[in-house]
This record gives sequence, structure tokens and C-alpha cells, in this order.
Amino acid sequence: MELPPREFVIFAWGAFGLVVGSFLNVVIHRLPLEGESVVRPLRSRCPSCKHELSAWENIPVLSWLVLRGRCKSCRWPIPLRYPLVEVINAALWALAGALAPSLTVVDASGAPSGLWLHLGVGLVHALVLSGLVVASAVDFDRFEIPDEISIGGMVLAPLCSALLPVLHQDTWLARELSEGGGVDRIGAVLGSLVGMAVGGGSLLVIGWIGKKLFRRDAMGLGDVKLLAAGGGFVGPGAALVALFLGSLVASLAGGANLLRFLCLSRARVRARRTHKAFRRSLASARIAGRYLPFGPYLGIGIGIVLLDWKDVLRLLKELAF
Ligand SMILES: [Zn+2]
Repeated sequence: MELPPREFVIFAWGAFGLVVGSFLNVVIHRLPLEGESVVRPLRSRCPSCKHELSAWENIPVLSWLVLRGRCKSCRWPIPLRYPLVEVINAALWALAGALAPSLTVVDASGAPSGLWLHLGVGLVHALVLSGLVVASAVDFDRFEIPDEISIGGMVLAPLCSALLPVLHQDTWLARELSEGGGVDRIGAVLGSLVGMAVGGGSLLVIGWIGKKLFRRDAMGLGDVKLLAAGGGFVGPGAALVALFLGSLVASLAGGANLLRFLCLSRARVRARRTHKAFRRSLASARIAGRYLPFGPYLGIGIGIVLLDWKDVLRLLKELAF
């Protein structure tokens, strides 16, 4: 059988990601709403005027561009988040597909096992990344992570690990617990379970210390469940790396945010020649920094270890030359 060229494979994953991204927008919009289901009503509506979207108003990215970001019927400005989620999800699916095991893999008996391995690992990674996109977007909007994503991930992680032990081939614990050279089912499931315990547990401990030190709740339970789910897919060691990377990005973003507020308030002070305004906006900058949701940063950390940044760099090099 002749294999399709690699560029075509990556493009196909990206195209699927774009369509799935369009569905994720519905999920992000409807999950936090009481009484709305992800599949009903079937047709998407404008959140503002309830105008039912026709098929051509529902094409990923393109419709948003053609409609210039406004509802056709009521001119409601459609948030940039909609095309952004679609593009980001398409890029993540293309990345997951490009990094999935090659189609040419043959198993020990010499039979080609490439297609199933490629689709299995690629799909699990792509779906985890899509889950992180939904969790991040909802957390960004509402400061909560939907249980459907976090607890759903905690249920799926050991199941996927049992079906595809190769998901844990880089998990040290899974290799140690497996018989023979590779990773077997029991090793992968144990690696997944310990990964969930370490991921969730580490955030619980940090939250407990934070509560003792600052006498207020520092850590949301949603973050705990999200890192537990992530740990189930990446294993215990990588869960800790994800937490570290997430905290690093969060503190960089927090610092940038504080700086932005400081510049804004300095401009305001110059305009009004009053120092009261400066102190007040500094206080609001601190509050804004304190209540930044952690979920999106945690999602970035989990995503990086899931795809392995070394693999991503290698891929970018290959595609460039
Ligand atoms: Zn409308």
C-alpha cells in the first residue's frame, strides 16, 4: 500500500481539528449553562438574537472573516474567541498528528500496525489537547473548570492507557512496572493512576500550604482535578514538570499583567495629576493578578509535556528544511 505524503497527513489532521474546533465553541458556550445540552438544539444560534445560523454562516474561521465578526441578523459582535479557538485547535491537531507514531511502523511479527498506532496515539493526544482548550476557555470566562472535562479526563486516562500502553512509553514508572522491554497494559494503567494521584496530590498539598500561610483558599479544586486528569495521561514525573511549566508561564503572564496595569495607571496619573488614582489602580492590578485563572496555564504545561517539547522542536526543524 502506498502511503500518503507526510504533509498531506498533517494537513488532514489540521482540517479535522478546524471542524472539531468549531464544535468546541459550542461546548465552551453551552457547558457552563444550566439546562443547555451540547447536542441540543442541534443548530447553532446567535447568543444575542437567537437567530439560527445557516450552514454558510457556520464555516470555521471563514464565516467569521466574511461576516467581519458580526451576526448577520443583529450585528452582535462575535467574539474573536470563536475563530481563535478554531485556529488553535486546528494547529494542535496538526501537531498531534505530525508527532503521532509513523504510519510505516511494523510490529514484532512484521505485520504493519502503523495505521492503528498512528490514529490511536494521535487521537488521544488531539482529544486531550481539545479538552485543555475547552477547560482553559471556560476557566478564563468564569473562573471554573467544567467537571465534564476534568473528571471525564480522569475516567478516560486509565482506560486509554489500558487500550494503548504505548501512551506511557516515556513514563519511567510504567516501564519499571512492566515485564520485558516495553510498556505493558498493567504498567501503563499503574503509571496512569500514580500520575493522577501525583498530579492532583501535588496541587492539594500546595493549596494546603497556601491556606496555612495566607489564611485563604489559594487553589481551586477545579485545578486539582485538571492536573489529576493530565497526570493520568502523562505520568507522575511529567505531571510535576507540567505543574512547574504552568506556574512559570503563569508568573510571567502575571508579571506582564502587573506591568501593563502600572503603565496604564502612570498614564492616568499624568493625565489627572493625582496620586490617589495611581494607588487605586495599583490595588486593582494586584487584585486582577490574584484572580487570574490558573487553568489556562496548567493547560499549557500539560500540553507541552504531552507532546514533548523536544519532539515539537525536532518536527519544526524537519518541516523547515
Ligand atoms: Zn444575532
